[in-house]
Amino acid sequence: MNTSAQTVSPDFQIRCPTSHCTGWVCYIEDEPPFFGCGECGDEWYSKADLDADIARIIEKYPYRRAVYRWKNGWQSMPFEQEPADYRDLVETEPF
Ligand SMILES: [Zn+2]
Repeated sequence: MNTSAQTVSPDFQIRCPTSHCTGWVCYIEDEPPFFGCGECGDEWYSKADLDADIARIIEKYPYRRAVYRWKNGWQSMPFEQEPADYRDLVETEPF
């Protein structure tokens, strides 16, 4: 069993790395625990998988880098430091 999700704080949340989605991915303490986006419904069963998708979306859309910071994996930027146009930019992405 992959235990990497269990090292994440229960209040972890981060901008969803799915194209066109402006939602937040939260840590869901289920059995097994996972990461889920309340907006698009995407799920990740390890932090490594979530980190990989974040890396991919940043490579595709560099403006997305502004809402993440790297510290032993991707973490969220403080909400007040997000660019004001983040949501507008993401909503121009294809579904
Ligand atoms: Zn989403």
